[in-house]
Amino acid sequence: MRCRKILELLPKFIENDFSTEEAASVWAHLGECDACRGEYESMTRLVETLENLPPMAVPASFKEAVMRALPPKKPAGGGGA
Ligand SMILES: [Zn+2]
Repeated sequence: MRCRKILELLPKFIENDFSTEEAASVWAHLGECDACRGEYESMTRLVETLENLPPMAVPASFKEAVMRALPPKKPAGGGGA
């Protein structure tokens, strides 16, 4: 298989949306092609990152409310708890 074809198939490959035969060909190619393997690794990393993101970011207003609720006796800069 050609690199171009592999790169087209990689997203499906990562989603496991593949037949065993196709997967075997992609694996074989990844085993001997550094470029495609690098692409595969960065794609899986990206997928993992997206899956590990919190469902929603903490709103700035909430952070502000927490800061205001804290006792104001901490020295500026902080030095850990
Ligand atoms: Zn390749």
